Amino acid sequence: MKQTLVYDIGENRYINLTNSCTLKCRFCPKTQNNPIVHQYNLGLDKNPSASEYIDLIGDPKQFNEIVFCGFGEPTMRIEVLLEIAEFVKQNGGRTRLNTDGLANHLHKRNVLADMEGLIDAVSVSMNAQSENVYKKHCQPSLEGSFKAMLDFLKMAPEYIPEVTATAIEGLEDVDVDKCREIAEGLGVSFRKRYLDVVG
Ligand code: SF4
Repeated sequence: MKQTLVYDIGENRYINLTNSCTLKCRFCPKTQNNPIVHQYNLGLDKNPSASEYIDLIGDPKQFNEIVFCGFGEPTMRIEVLLEIAEFVKQNGGRTRLNTDGLANHLHKRNVLADMEGLIDAVSVSMNAQSENVYKKHCQPSLEGSFKAMLDFLKMAPEYIPEVTATAIEGLEDVDVDKCREIAEGLGVSFRKRYLDVVG
């Protein structure tokens, strides 16, 4: 099956930037070795350039949003992500980033500042109300990831107009109401997600 660099769900066009990630979420199709999401094969055997994506996006105004969300963590390829986002904004589109919120932790700098003006909305996978539950479901390879994700959420509204934390209903020991409380305490919105629903 052909590799999928961009794919459409509803009114949105999605950008599949990488298969890399510092988490290994037990509920992720990647962890379960299943690269097929909807009808798309999101497995990548190389890291395509920004121009390869830009050529495939077309006119960003044709879509409700251009969403960075694939079979890995988009901010692992932050330079490519920013280059594509700049193209989208220069051409009148709207951008959303779906992320694990670990970009600052990984890159050891405030990447949010680079996103200002280029990313309109960010959706951060909080996934759990405590470090223990987070570790159980997300299996982070970087120490301190849970706290780093919360710090990212707290800082994000300074740079990005719409900031939403998410958690998945129905995972063992995940208290979605508590996650919502934490999000509200950090000054960001919250959205409950459902297992295996992409977007
Ligand atoms: S952060 Fe996203 S891509 Fe990475 S393992 Fe978790 S669900 Fe999969």
